[in-house]
Amino acid sequence: MSEHSIVDTAVAQARAAAPLWALAPASVRATLLRGLADALEAQKDSLIPLADEESNLGAGRLGGEIARTAFQLRGFAEGLVSGPAYARIVDEAVAGAPPVGRPQLTRVLRPLGPVAMFSASNFPFAFSVLGGDTASALAAGCPVVVKAHSGHPRLSQAVFDLARDVVRAQGLPEGLLTLVDNATRGAGGYLVQHPDIAAVAFTGSYQGGTALWKLANERPRPVPFFGELGSINPLIALPAALEANSAELAKTAAGSITMGCGQFCTSPGVIVVLEGAASDRFIGQLCEELAPIQPHAMLTPGMRQGFEAASAHIAANATTLLAPGSDAQGPAPRIYATDAATFIQNPALREEMFGPGALVVKVRNLDQVHQVLQAIGGTLTTTLWGANADTPANRALVSAAEAVSGRVLFSGVPTGVAVCAAQQHGGPWPSSTAPQSTSVGYAAIERFLRPVALQDAPAWAQA
Ligand code: NAP
Repeated sequence: MSEHSIVDTAVAQARAAAPLWALAPASVRATLLRGLADALEAQKDSLIPLADEESNLGAGRLGGEIARTAFQLRGFAEGLVSGPAYARIVDEAVAGAPPVGRPQLTRVLRPLGPVAMFSASNFPFAFSVLGGDTASALAAGCPVVVKAHSGHPRLSQAVFDLARDVVRAQGLPEGLLTLVDNATRGAGGYLVQHPDIAAVAFTGSYQGGTALWKLANERPRPVPFFGELGSINPLIALPAALEANSAELAKTAAGSITMGCGQFCTSPGVIVVLEGAASDRFIGQLCEELAPIQPHAMLTPGMRQGFEAASAHIAANATTLLAPGSDAQGPAPRIYATDAATFIQNPALREEMFGPGALVVKVRNLDQVHQVLQAIGGTLTTTLWGANADTPANRALVSAAEAVSGRVLFSGVPTGVAVCAAQQHGGPWPSSTAPQSTSVGYAAIERFLRPVALQDAPAWAQA
């Protein structure tokens, strides 16, 4: 079968399943999601070694990721049964002339239709075949066509196989979840432009996401493209925090920068500090904490090459504070530094360095912190250490952080994204192509639902 016909077959199956799934009661959808969670957990002993072989992420982390993936499948099931995602708005008819008088209107949410889902390499469970995009699309009533990531093909197939068994055992159409594997990038583009695909969910790099986002918009009938892309996640460490606790904060930052070998979209890639003794001490402590850390091997040799190229690029434009030492398996941590003016003038310094490295930006005053945030423009997270006091300066800083970020943290580190109703994972471009939506947390279901207003409709049509 040619690549295009593999995509055609998968999409045709999804299309055939779409009407039934759109009308399936919430209880049926919830039962499927719970069945998928149970099956994933039941097979974790065979899935974890396979995932480790293909990703190098280690059994501990991968076990945690399976727990997270099952938790979010069950969370969407719970949401379906308790109903908030399908909350409807009813405006009763009002007699009289407009604008006060009006017909009866009911606003309902309907599933978009088949969703093409591109897995990311760095979360082989949580952002892959049965990850948050699949869970939220199935919960919304949309079949999913998964484009497997080339970084974990055998794991993708194994998870898909177990999911297909659950779908079959529950007597549901197989088109609810289909897999396009071993696909070239051309086939990925063809999937995005397939006329029967109603929306695209993507998690991955800026380059890949932008290429596919363009294709989605160039279709004769463009479709929503929910792309979660790379991010540099500024961590602004103010003297108020550093004077109190710099050693502990340095340890915390070092852990976050090197967690998972730095292969997190929320990894703090830019550390902003004000010139001064407390900041200098903190940066020294950060380098000391990082120097002995030996990260594990990266996801793929390509990812390693990408990190070496990105960090060499930063090194050529900045001062090296911590040079990479000798490598064991994975790349050694590294820290670079620059000043605010250079950071703002040079877009190369604002590119994601996907791996265990960060760039320190030294600023002279709070005005420059604002300018640095404006230059970043869009990021998944901004972390503010030392901005808890209710002062005009802190209020202005929080507004500036909100203007460019999907999530603003006042303590802790941005790695680790809780799955809950209040979560927002997606910020202004370039971190996301649809910043009004989230790809983590239960609001993610809203991406795949379209509002329809029913006017003077009979009761059965409002069901
Ligand atoms: P990636 O290289 O962009 O790959 C993601 C998917 O897109 C893969 O299926 C890939 O195909 C496909 N693809 C890439 N470029 C393409 C193109 N030009 N045309 C068609 N398809 C294309 O991303 P990754 O390396 O897996 O993930 C790492 C990146 O993801 C990092 O930048 C990280 O920050 C970001 N990320 C973001 C989030 C978030 O929530 N915002 C979460 C995790 C990761 P192949 O399988 O052939 O490579």
